[in-house]
Amino acid sequence: MTVHTPTAQPSAPMPVLPAVFADVAGTRDWTQPRHDWTREEIEALFALPMMDLLYLAQTVHRAWFDPNSIQRSTLVNIKTGACPEDCKYCSQSRTAKAKLKIEPLMGVEEVRQAAVRARDTGATRLCMGAAWRSLKERDLPVIVDMIKAVRAEGLQTCMTLGMLKPELATALREAGLDYYNHNVDTSPEHYGKIIGSRTYQDRLDTLKAVQDVGIKVCSGGIVGLGESRSDRAGMLHTLATLSTHPNSVPINMLVKVEGTPLADEGVTSDVDEIEFVRTIAVARILMPRSVVRLSAGRHAMSVSTQALAFMAGANSMFYGEELLTTENSAMTRDNQMFEKLGISAMSKNPND
Ligand code: SF4
Repeated sequence: MTVHTPTAQPSAPMPVLPAVFADVAGTRDWTQPRHDWTREEIEALFALPMMDLLYLAQTVHRAWFDPNSIQRSTLVNIKTGACPEDCKYCSQSRTAKAKLKIEPLMGVEEVRQAAVRARDTGATRLCMGAAWRSLKERDLPVIVDMIKAVRAEGLQTCMTLGMLKPELATALREAGLDYYNHNVDTSPEHYGKIIGSRTYQDRLDTLKAVQDVGIKVCSGGIVGLGESRSDRAGMLHTLATLSTHPNSVPINMLVKVEGTPLADEGVTSDVDEIEFVRTIAVARILMPRSVVRLSAGRHAMSVSTQALAFMAGANSMFYGEELLTTENSAMTRDNQMFEKLGISAMSKNPND
């Protein structure tokens, strides 16, 4: 029997990017964050052949992150429904006819228990969402107590409470809040077709208030709102040209909930999963040091699609049975997926 002994291989050279990338944005170090992206450059990235796009996204991803590690957050609704805003995709809006049990603001102990469950199942952050237009002064004391209770259980804290005034942002920072989530949702041009009760500028003002006091920003958008590819590029352009990139960028696939205007009026676009993965890859390239979250809609994706999204640079996900008011991927299925893909939990974000 002939035994083949492997011959020693010279060490691998540094990857040289194919010439196609020079056509997109010249010769430069792609791994370094930039804040001067143009819409044209971003649209050119979207238009790359898929394998080139994935190659570039992986190259950028590996410069800053362990490619086999995923950050896990658990989401808990601390106040459900009866929201005065009119986001057309959301079942919690007062304008929606979706069947939803309206719940008042949770108590601090209930939130603490949710934090313990999340921590014990492997999450490192608890994201707390309230269906409010904005945080009010009168609710601040209980919100502060929630932040302290969750931190005391050893978890990072994230809150999504609607618009935020600078003075309330300061109070949240003093309470120890780590992240504030406020999505831009879509491009500035498409935004008015989805939300009428607050402006795009309102959203940017909240992001600024959060960043100004040193709370980390979680901000992303939704794919499938009836937008064009150019709108998807516009949404990422908004985020990638902020003076500081959001630390966390959730990319959601619209979950059509019966009773919401977008689902009932049939104005959504069914964006295919390859286009969704493209959006993740472009987000990764534009914001190299941010964690990109494979967010809502994941429950309906195959393991193969999720693996492709991780390949494209997604390295964060919600972990738990329910995602605000829509279904999330069951934890057992997730654990099997992690094992299959050799993925481990990210205990600490190297870029935080
Ligand atoms: S997305 Fe948020 S702000 Fe908009 S209706 Fe739903 S809960 Fe309210």
